[in-house]
Amino acid sequence: MSAAYPWLETVWQRLLATSTRPAQALLLAGPRGVGKSALALDWARALLCEAPKPDGSACGACPACHWFDTGAHPDFRRVSLQEKTSKEGETRLATAIEVDQARDAVDFVQLSTYRAGCRVVLVDPADSLNLAAANALLKVLEEPPLNTVFVLVSDQPRRLLPTIRSRCTRLDVGLPAWGQAAAWLAEQGVDDAPTLLALAGGTPLDAQRWCEGEALDERRGVLEGLARPEALDPVSLGERWKTVAPQTWHNVAYKWIGDLLAVSLGGRVQFNQDFAEALAKLGRTADPGKLLALARVQADEGRILAHPLNRSLQLQAWLVEYRHVFD
Ligand SMILES: [Zn+2]
Repeated sequence: MSAAYPWLETVWQRLLATSTRPAQALLLAGPRGVGKSALALDWARALLCEAPKPDGSACGACPACHWFDTGAHPDFRRVSLQEKTSKEGETRLATAIEVDQARDAVDFVQLSTYRAGCRVVLVDPADSLNLAAANALLKVLEEPPLNTVFVLVSDQPRRLLPTIRSRCTRLDVGLPAWGQAAAWLAEQGVDDAPTLLALAGGTPLDAQRWCEGEALDERRGVLEGLARPEALDPVSLGERWKTVAPQTWHNVAYKWIGDLLAVSLGGRVQFNQDFAEALAKLGRTADPGKLLALARVQADEGRILAHPLNRSLQLQAWLVEYRHVFD
């Protein structure tokens, strides 16, 4: 079986080569949007398969594969961010993996396996384990029960406890080559793959996500506003943009500021190729120090995305600061 995405082929083959003696704790590390989760699932499926192919990959036909594909394999446990419903009825992902989830996983690995094979625990994203959850998990990582494999997936492995990192065999999944990623996006029917890929910092799955829903149109609207700071009215734009999804806003504004900063310091546009001309012009009058301050605000906002207080007010304050960059 080939890898879930063409750029994962090398790392997939490296994993398969270990299938007779898999690492008991594996850490798949690399930037977001490159398919680490898909790779981890393929690996779990291969480990649980009862009639693996000669290369070590899953057969896709045995009862274990069938259960895995229907999400019901009794020897597989996925620990990830849970959905929570607020008082207002909105469903959001939790911001951390909680200790009770980790304890469930610990209990799970103490049981005997159902299929007398191995047992796989997938922790994804592992960097979202809160401290108590990480400590609970650490205990079993230190002495994993027989036939148990832990697979941890992380965009930000530095955020893992050093003691957890040191228990894991690390496998890095890098960004695909630009041409390969662009070709794959084009195959998926994505228009203007190079622009989108630049926007997504070279990560093809993020680039693909941009095409879903209204994110692209929202981005264009926001950037057309930001590209003309002299004509920008914080009050009306704050009102208008409050409906833009916080994640989209954060992504767009952060990359815009990043590009502006690069250009003002004599560098090149990295993300917003389609606005390169406007950025070059703005970069001549932008104050790098103020941009840097704004980038910090934006980075902080990324951490509190789930709790915007008064959205339009928050945007207005940001836009006022933004205008001052070009004073
Ligand atoms: Zn199978």
